[in-house]
This record gives sequence, C-alpha cells and structure tokens, in this order.
Amino acid sequence: MEKISIVIPCYNEEEAIEIYFSKIDEYINKIEDFKFEFVLVNDGSKDKTLDILKRIHSRRDDVTIVNLSRNFGQMPAISAGLYTCKGDFAIIMDADLQDPLYMIEKIAAKFKEGYDVVNPHRIDRKKDSSLKRNTAGFFYKFVNKIEGKKVIPENVNCFRGLSRKAIDEILKMKERDRYLLAEIPYIGFKVCTIDFSREERICGKTKYNLKKMTRYALDNISAITSFPLYSIIKFGALSSLLTFVNFLVMLILFICSNHLPMNQIIFMTLFIVSVILLCSSIIIFFLGVIGVYLHNILINTRERENFIIDEVITQKDK
Ligand code: UDP
Ligand code: MG
Repeated sequence: MEKISIVIPCYNEEEAIEIYFSKIDEYINKIEDFKFEFVLVNDGSKDKTLDILKRIHSRRDDVTIVNLSRNFGQMPAISAGLYTCKGDFAIIMDADLQDPLYMIEKIAAKFKEGYDVVNPHRIDRKKDSSLKRNTAGFFYKFVNKIEGKKVIPENVNCFRGLSRKAIDEILKMKERDRYLLAEIPYIGFKVCTIDFSREERICGKTKYNLKKMTRYALDNISAITSFPLYSIIKFGALSSLLTFVNFLVMLILFICSNHLPMNQIIFMTLFIVSVILLCSSIIIFFLGVIGVYLHNILINTRERENFIIDEVITQKDK
C-alpha cells in the first residue's frame, strides 16, 4: 500500500501539536487507500515542543521527529521534512490546524487520480488578520502582474500535496534557500487545485509579524523575478535624459539672466537641494533593491546547508 508522509514544521507549537494529534486519527483512519507517516520537524522551538513531540512519538508507531539544531525558519524546516520523509506522497501542513484535517482525504483522492501536485486554494481569508490578508494579497498580485503571467498560484501557500516525483525534483534544485511558492509551480507535472476555507489558529500566535512577512516577500520576489532590476535600468535611463534636459535649461537661464533677484536665488537653491535629496533617496532605494538580489546570490553561492539536523528519531517499527 502506498504511503503518505505528513510533513509538519513546528516552532513553539507545544499546545497546537497535542491538539493536532488528538484529532488526526479520526480523519486518517477512514482513508483506506493509503498508509500514513508523520514527519514532525522541531525548528529550534524554545518551549516544550520537542518534549511533546517525543511524548507523541512514544505512543505512536508512525512518527519520525527531525530535531533541527536551532530555529532556521518554516521553509528550511519543511525542506528538512521533505528530505527525511519516505512516503510515495507528502502533504505539507501547519501544526496549528489552520490547514483543515478533512483536506487530507481530499488530497489523497487527488493522488489516487494521478496528480503530482495538489494545491489547496484558499477561497476566503476572512480568518486571517487584515495585515496578513492585505500583504499576502499584494504579494501574489504584484509578482504575477510584473511577470505578466501566473508564476505563483494566488492564495496557495505551503499547504500542498506532492508526489514522490515532485518531491525529488524539488530536492534536486540547488537553491540554498527554498522558495516553495515559486519552486512548486516551476516543476510542472500534473497539477490540480482544491478550494477550501482556512481555519483560525487553534491556539498560540502566528510566527510571522510585519517585519518577517516583508522580508519573506522581498526574498521571494527577488528569487522569482528580475523585473525590479530591469525597471531600475529603465528608470535610470529616463531620469538621466530628464536631468540632462533640466541641466541645459538651467544653464541657459543662468547665462541669459545676469542679475537674478535674491529671493529667486534662494528659491532656486532650495529647489536644487530638494531635487538632490529626492535623487539620493531614489538611489538609496535602488541600491537596496540591488542589495536584495546580491544577498540572494551570496546565500545561494556559499556552500552552506539551509538547515542542520541535530537528531532524527525514527519510527518505532523501523
Ligand atoms: N514555523 C516553523 N519555523 C518558523 C516559523 C514557523 O517551523 O520559524 C512553522 C509553525 O510552527 C507552523 C508553520 O510553520 O506550523 C506556519 O507558521 P504560522 O502558523 O506561524 O504561519 P501562518 O499560518 O500564520 O502563516
Ligand atoms: Mg499557521
């Protein structure tokens, strides 16, 4: 019988993960076509998550724990889970029950139909905070708009179903940083979508604040598209032309008017200073954009793993 690995990244999820396992059997026991294993990745939690995971491991035969050496972030934790899982398929989901358990059966049915990538698509984000809703909405639209095509499916996050073929292709990618939102659409294969409503977090708080989300969005944009870099070149060419015309006009004015009244001189000076300030801030902004791309090159060229496993506690029957 084929096996589905459920991969769950866990960072400070001591309460949520217990609740998850108090409910999960009700959902997986009725699925007859597949066996299940759980790959629980402890991403350097500072609370009692690891102890709770070990407790769950001691009472179940289908749990593998991957303990990372510190907190690396959700994507590296998912990568560690995908590297470790043995299933013919994998379902990546949150520990906090935001990704509803009834979806496992629906995704499994899609695997049975031969799909390699199953994208659960959120049809409403009412239960997300308005900050999250707006930033996520902007991110998906911005990336797809500037690329001129759908490079990432909207309102689909890391909650995914993947076949072994898809997992292996993702793991083959040499990127140090994982950008699953872009990597999964990139690999192709047989893809399908299932609509669902995302639940509220069962307990605890989201690990993403505005700063983390902005960073996540910028890193993803720089990994997905070079559009901002090309825009800078276009903007630079246009503004050079305008600056040159402006310079000529100033020069002519200066030569033609041999006695400018004092207040006009002050006005012109202030005007020029403000233009210089504006130009410098635009340059700093653009340097920042280039910096994000440079950072991406740095991360991807240095030979460092993006997660370090401290210990793998394998399933008891293995
Ligand atoms: N997570 C993780 N490492 C981190 C941040 C988050 O492993 O540094 C896990 C977290 O425990 C959860 C999943 O990634 O299972 C998604 O995080 P969260 O629920 O906070 O994100 P949201 O659903 O609010 O986008
Ligand atoms: Mg969540």
